[in-house]
Amino acid sequence: MKELIKSLISLLFLILPFSFMACNKDENPNTFGNTENELQGNENLNTSGNIENEFQGNVIIVGAGASGLAAAKKLEEEGISYQILEATDKLGGRIQKNENFVDFPIDLGAEWIHEDKSILNFLIDQPGNEPNVETILYQPMNVQQVVDNIISQIPNEEMIDYYEGYITEYKFKNTTWYDFLHENFAQNIEQNIIYNARITTIDYTGDQVVLTTENGTEYQADKVILTVSIGVLRSNAITFNPPLPAKKITAIQDVEFLPGFKLFMKFSDQFLSRCYFI
Ligand SMILES: Cc1cc2nc3c(=O)[nH]c(=O)nc-3n(C[C@H](O)[C@H](O)[C@H](O)COP(=O)(O)OP(=O)(O)OC[C@H]3O[C@@H](n4cnc5c(N)ncnc54)[C@H](O)[C@@H]3O)c2cc1C
Repeated sequence: MKELIKSLISLLFLILPFSFMACNKDENPNTFGNTENELQGNENLNTSGNIENEFQGNVIIVGAGASGLAAAKKLEEEGISYQILEATDKLGGRIQKNENFVDFPIDLGAEWIHEDKSILNFLIDQPGNEPNVETILYQPMNVQQVVDNIISQIPNEEMIDYYEGYITEYKFKNTTWYDFLHENFAQNIEQNIIYNARITTIDYTGDQVVLTTENGTEYQADKVILTVSIGVLRSNAITFNPPLPAKKITAIQDVEFLPGFKLFMKFSDQFLSRCYFI
């Protein structure tokens, strides 16, 4: 049972990646590498060790999820011109919230803050471990199991073992990952998002990268940061010209990417404080 809970939790708790990939038209037309290296192509360290960025071109970020917004924030700070092309009509990607289901906001996607709540300060360059939003430790102890139609409580020692063998979790209290993202990453950036712009082709054969949407609109950029999920890349929803190098395709196919979904149910009576269906 413990293992089953673990696998269920592992399925839902996918790590929130504030990372992204980039493609550009530099020396090697097959480049599809690390964004920081790509964007820093012309930069030098000054005497105080800070990066002096000499990049003058424009950047297109594909996707307005956490990664796209984090990339945009970085470009904004560096004074680099950019636009975000987002397939849907909202920002946040797999981070969304609902405020109508119950009397507190619920995360529709990412919900848990993994391991250490000080990650929130780290993400926004704030010192200290205590975030300025209220969080709660997530360690349910009164967990019931059903074996052969018999309901029993999992002994507390087993739950303690479970948490010791697994990562600590926190959750936002009366706020959500979406609020955190919106407040700390989307401010000053929203006006640069073009919604309903689903990219279907990325052509990086010429001097500029040309991106085409499903309705045929073209955008051009000196560099592109692509933040769509591995699932989108695997589905071949975007055609690359020239095709991505075999090494990248293998990496995209090989990385573990599990599907996950959430189901919210309302009951007329409260019969359990929390319920896991396994
Ligand atoms: C049900 C669920 C629960 C989760 N729980 C947690 C959790 O508790 N804790 C945690 O840390 N993480 C969790 N995660 C994972 C977390 O949500 C993701 O890792 C994170 O949100 C990914 O952000 P991203 O910006 O990299 O990708 P995404 O959020 O997928 O953003 C990509 C964006 O690109 C857009 N896009 C896609 N294709 C195109 C295209 N062709 N053209 C233009 N735009 C395009 C998408 O619409 C989207 O807005 C969960 C995920 C799910 C689904």
